[in-house]
Amino acid sequence: MTRYPHGGTTAPIVASPYGPRRGGAFSFHYGTDFVGYDELKSVLPGTVTHAGWLNSAAGNAIVVDSRDPLSGRTVTVCRFHVGAIAVRKGQTVLEGQTLGRMGFTGNATGPCDHVEIRYWAGGAYTTENPTEWFAARVRPPSSAGGGAQPVVPTPKPPEQEDDPMARIFTKPKDGSTVYELKDGRKRGITNVEWTVIKAAYAAAGEKVPYARNVVTAADLARIPDA
Ligand SMILES: [Zn+2]
Repeated sequence: MTRYPHGGTTAPIVASPYGPRRGGAFSFHYGTDFVGYDELKSVLPGTVTHAGWLNSAAGNAIVVDSRDPLSGRTVTVCRFHVGAIAVRKGQTVLEGQTLGRMGFTGNATGPCDHVEIRYWAGGAYTTENPTEWFAARVRPPSSAGGGAQPVVPTPKPPEQEDDPMARIFTKPKDGSTVYELKDGRKRGITNVEWTVIKAAYAAAGEKVPYARNVVTAADLARIPDA
């Protein structure tokens, strides 16, 4: 069974989706940037083929090759902008195993888990939309069908009250979506907001805490109303 990159069976918050990016020059985002958690988990059992600095764009990267349970092909799952790395090249990992911690090394505007799904053929690779890729593979534990398995309640789909990240907090003018946590004290942030927060810290001559993926009420006060 496949897991989402935070180890769960419901999708994490998407800060930046796969596909063409709006803005100045045309660019294509070959992965999905997930936010709202700290530990990066392996989505499938596999072998680590890279763990360390990759380049100035990707920063620290962790790459795991696995057997795709749907197609049987080898799928390469890349994680970019990684903070701390907890695995070594050549190491075998289990599904759900911690690979490292979320960071924003390389060219990232804020802490995020850039997840890229690659399939290699003839010396080149193609990418798939991670949102669709995960949706086709991740199944709640109770639907696995194993007779001896303990009964686990089916996780509720997003946007129900019990999902701690489900409630849409606001819709800023930049089109990004912001979520409030259930306790109301912290919530995930978008890359755009992170840029604003970092600028506010810099203007105040303060150091930005490293690898934060949630903001506090004090941080929210630094974001101008959308
Ligand atoms: Zn990305």
